[in-house]
Amino acid sequence: MPNSLKQKVARRRPPRFELIAGALCLDFANTLDDRPSGKPQELLKHYVDLARFAEDTGILDTAQVDRLTERSYVSVEAAQRALSAAIEMREAVNAVFVAIANKKSVPATALMILNQYVQGAAQHAQLVPVNWGKGASRFEWRFNGLPVNFETPLWPIARSAAELLTSDQLPFVRACASKACQWLFLDVSKNHRRRWCDMTKCGNRAKFQRFYAKQMKSR
Ligand SMILES: [Zn+2]
Repeated sequence: MPNSLKQKVARRRPPRFELIAGALCLDFANTLDDRPSGKPQELLKHYVDLARFAEDTGILDTAQVDRLTERSYVSVEAAQRALSAAIEMREAVNAVFVAIANKKSVPATALMILNQYVQGAAQHAQLVPVNWGKGASRFEWRFNGLPVNFETPLWPIARSAAELLTSDQLPFVRACASKACQWLFLDVSKNHRRRWCDMTKCGNRAKFQRFYAKQMKSR
């Protein structure tokens, strides 16, 4: 996530989402939890959940989230449409990156859908000069200079997916080694051997299972 987004956050609520992925688009893919169980748990049940994800990840600040939340109670259908679009995009993002993590070919439909959102994001992005001072200067794509609407959270996420897909970090996209979890994350560890989304949650559980299986054998 660009630092510009992080700096904007004025937080007054505790975070609701576990952001372990190291990439905005992958954290977003993980908002459908327990995928392998066959009974996945939807963490984006209402538009408010999407707004809160945007707050937790620094896409929007608390005041913007509050305004969107209020508006979502009035313009129920428009908010629902944005949520449906977000979920469609999320499933495309997930399908694309799961394929990459498993070294399989990327499903064409998912890539087509993701491309549509990436194009949508490009329409909402602005080039903004950063470090605009003496000498050194460059530009960044930013989304936060525009009026906020229900779709606003989607664009930085689409952008994040596009950036990751075109970056040299792509080979380090992983799915959590826990069969019950399979959350996506970007392995930025030094030796690129991270296997678990979260060592305390999934790593230890797997360790415990291995330990337990050994105990049973040695009896
Ligand atoms: Zn996990």
